[in-house]
Amino acid sequence: MPIDLGGLATVLQLVGAFFGVYLLAVWIGLVVWTLRDVRSRSRELFTTLLSVAMVLLFNLPGILLYFLLRPRETLEEKYERELSEEALLQDIEEKRACPACQQKVQDDFLFCPNCHTRLKRRCENCHRITSLRWNICPFCGAPNTSPTPGASPTDVPK
Ligand SMILES: [Zn+2]
Ligand SMILES: [Zn+2]
Repeated sequence: MPIDLGGLATVLQLVGAFFGVYLLAVWIGLVVWTLRDVRSRSRELFTTLLSVAMVLLFNLPGILLYFLLRPRETLEEKYERELSEEALLQDIEEKRACPACQQKVQDDFLFCPNCHTRLKRRCENCHRITSLRWNICPFCGAPNTSPTPGASPTDVPK
């Protein structure tokens, strides 16, 4: 029984063409994905070009290399992290600033040296520094008898 060589060659050609197109599609897909990914991570043209070139030239090993070298955070993640860090910093600074004049004060200041606003109080029982917002001394439980926050400069002891 003779083998139809012509038919076999056609089938092989078709299979070859199919795989060729398939590989090309995967390759283009990887390059496009890399381009998108790197642009979400960096605005630098050099980084973008280098990453795309890596995948363009080396394909799968290139993308492995890209995974190792790409910026860890996306720009969005970086922005959010910076935002939360800033908020945290502001929170700390707010606690250490006079609520009336925003002058920097130390944790144990009882009055703002700039505008004379009362910042903290000293417990009359145990003489430790406590917040004006608390009704009792957190150290000894004695009731807070000091004036309310936002006291005027007239409260400054002579
Ligand atoms: Zn002040
Ligand atoms: Zn006390």
